[in-house]
This record gives sequence, C-alpha cells and structure tokens, in this order.
Amino acid sequence: MITGNTSLLQRSLQAVWHPCTQMKLHAAQLPMIPVARAEGMWLYDLDGKRYFDAISSWWVNLFGHGHPGINAALKDQIDRLEHVMLAGFTHEPVVQLSERLSALTDHHLGHCFYASDGASATEIALKMSFHFWRNSGQQNKNTFVGLQNGYHGETVGALAVTDVALFRDAYAPLLRQAATVPSPDWRLTEAGESAEAYAHRCADVLELYLQEHHAHTAALIIEPLVQCAAGMAMHHPAYLRRVRALCTQFDVHLIADEIAVGFGRTGSMFAHEQAGIEPAERPDFLCLSKGISGGYLPLSVVMTTDTIYQAFYADEVTRGFLHSHSYTGNPLACRAALAVLDLFEENNVIAQNRAKAEVLRQKSLELAQHPRVQNFRQQGMILAFDIEHDDPVFSRRFYTAALQQELLLRPIANQLGQDAKARTVHTVYFMPPYVMNEDEMNLLVSRTLKVIEHLTR
Ligand SMILES: *Cc1c(COP(=O)(O)O)cnc(C)c1O
Repeated sequence: MITGNTSLLQRSLQAVWHPCTQMKLHAAQLPMIPVARAEGMWLYDLDGKRYFDAISSWWVNLFGHGHPGINAALKDQIDRLEHVMLAGFTHEPVVQLSERLSALTDHHLGHCFYASDGASATEIALKMSFHFWRNSGQQNKNTFVGLQNGYHGETVGALAVTDVALFRDAYAPLLRQAATVPSPDWRLTEAGESAEAYAHRCADVLELYLQEHHAHTAALIIEPLVQCAAGMAMHHPAYLRRVRALCTQFDVHLIADEIAVGFGRTGSMFAHEQAGIEPAERPDFLCLSKGISGGYLPLSVVMTTDTIYQAFYADEVTRGFLHSHSYTGNPLACRAALAVLDLFEENNVIAQNRAKAEVLRQKSLELAQHPRVQNFRQQGMILAFDIEHDDPVFSRRFYTAALQQELLLRPIANQLGQDAKARTVHTVYFMPPYVMNEDEMNLLVSRTLKVIEHLTR
C-alpha cells in the first residue's frame, strides 16, 4: 500500500537500488520523484505536482505517456497471449514485427534476433559478427573498433566497446580491450574547418587503422549521426558514407547501434539512411531498442543480412547462433512495437517530425543566441547545447533547478577535446516525445531559459 509521498520515498531508498545514481546523494540534495501516473508529455507525482518529460524518460518514449492506441493493443494482446518461449514456438506478433521491420530496410536486413535491452542487442551483434567469421574460417577476426566517446550499453561485453570514462573506468580490468578511433563530433573541428572536412579527417584515421588491423577486426560499431550518451555529439553524414565504404573494402562488419537514434528520432526512420547509401549498403547489423515499444516494454532486436544468416545455417548445432534469453520476442512487447509502427504509418510521423523539428528550431532561437549557450545543435527531434561552468556538478544543479520549473531535463557533463585542450561542458538537450505541440514547445523553451538565467546570473 502506498500511503503517501514521504513514505514511498523512504521505502524506495531502503529497498530499491536506483540506476546511474550515487544513492547517498538522495539522502541530502538529490530529489526522488514518486510518479503516480503519466499522460502525454506529463508525469504526475503523488502530490499532483507535474513534470514535463522533455527527455522521453531516457529516450524511450515516442508518442507520449498513456497513448490510447498502444494501450488498446496491449489490452487486446494480454487476453490472447502474454508470453511463450520462442525456441520451438512462434506467434503472430513476433512474426509480423519481424516482417514489418524487414520491410523498413527494403528487406535487406531480413533476419531479426530479439532480446530485451539495448546492451544485450550490442552483445548479440558482437557475438554474431565474431561467430560469422569463425564459421567462415576466419577465427582471427575477433576484435572490435568503436568510436571515441561511443556508448553501446553497460554489460561487460557492451562496455568493452563503450568509451565513456565514468561508466567504464571502474570496470576496466573486466573488459576485453577494443580499439577506439577519433569521434567525428563536429564540436572538435579546428577553427575554420567544416563538420564535413572534420568527418573526412576522422575517416582517414579509421582508414589507416583498418589498413593495418583488418585481418583481426570483426566489426566496427557506431551510433549513426548522434552519439547520444557522449553529450548529443553530432557528426556529418559523410562520415557514415566513408565508414560504410571502408568496412566493405576491408571486410569488416558494420554494426549500426540505432538503439537511441532509430525510429524517426533524427529525421529519417533510421539514422543511417541519411548517409546517402544504396539499400544494399545498409549496415551488416542494425541494433534497435528504446523507442521500439514506444517506451512501454523492454524490447530490443538485432537485424541482419541473409549473408550473415546463411553462415550459421548448417547441420551442426554449434554453427548455429548461441544466445538464449528467456523473454526473447515477448508477445506483449512485440505487440506494443506493432502499435508503434501503426502510428508511424497512420500519421506519417517522419514527415511530421521534420516539420516539428523546424518549428522547435525556430522557437529555440533565443536559446541559441543566449550568451551562455555554446554549440547549439539539432538533428531532427534532438536539440542540444553546451554550457561551460566551473562547477563540476553543474549538470546536477541544472537538473534540480529544472524540476522546480516542472521540467525533466538531465544534462550530461562531458569532456571536449584531449589532454591540455580538454574542458568539461554541460550538455543540455531536448529529446521529447514526438507528440509535443507548439504550446508545449513554448513552455519548454521559456522555462529552460529561466533555469539558465537562474543558474548563471
Ligand atoms: C541506451 C543505449 C544503449 C543501451 O541500452 P539499454 O537498454 O540501456 O541497455 C546502447 N546503445 C545506445 C546508443 C544507447 O543509447
């Protein structure tokens, strides 16, 4: 029984170990918000206070909380089939979802392997890539390349290709070393250098790396267009085009981690589509999660090509892909994902998002021009800017000040540049559900300005 705000907080702090959190901070400064219900853009706490979900609850929500269409689909599904194991059994939602996802890649990525979280999707892609080369008699191709500041999840395998010091350093002794190449993050351009020129400069470094190391490299993993956890670091699509060509040239798999940027977030259904590549040049592996179920249920998928699939198709069990997960292809989660795809089709969401992103950009001009705002940037429905501040915990102070303005914003502290030139910036970003209307945009921008004024006065 929940008997009130205070007691739920106390019970949560006693019994729940919260993610990405130094729990002791909650004893004094850091608020804990007990959410009772949510609707559209808004979260409501037990006292009826409300919070505007400007970051889609860690980037998962696409169409607002409590969406009637997704709710109805789940209510229908729960009376039919809640779950059945996927080994030796199948069901309509998982088959339909696989077919429809495949169609979204022009059937180039026609084989779907499911899990429940993003980190597992990364693990699956890494394992599949390695196992493909092993089945093809190239055991030596067993290392991976990632990008500086890349984020691919925090299980021990995924952390090996994640390059965010805060998440990685404590566990470094547990991790199998992967190579990192420079990030094409355009905030790192030299004076007078364009984002595109910098993208090519970074691709040149990758080219040198692959020339030397391709014989033992299984795959390169990348977050196309936006490295989200790195502080919404954005790059020019020319980089993706080069990466695709280099991976083909050097016989290295390309893993596109679109766990955060997939499903319309960047202005196309999948971010890699903006690389201007032919359908047949799609990534060898596409990892999806987060928005796939509209932010309702844990679900992830790795999609891959027939070439990869065929290398596992054999008489021997050990040549098959070995990865067992109890809830693989859960019918409820798949049904939520189908409802999400219905919404994309019925409402022409990609075109609508492009128009909406432009409105949001115009409404954010005052923010972009604020003297404390640096590196204002946008890619579709992700808008971000940096604030430089001496206080190392400025991001956390921004978060709590924003809550007082009814905004859920969670800035990311990140290091720009290397060695002597390195400096810490605090990246404030909007990554809202796509259903945000113009009044809500006005509210978001005006209150964000208030928070900046309040904290930097
Ligand atoms: C969030 C994220 C992951 C990890 O997903 P989880 O479901 O949190 O494990 C992996 N890659 C990217 C790009 C992400 O943003």
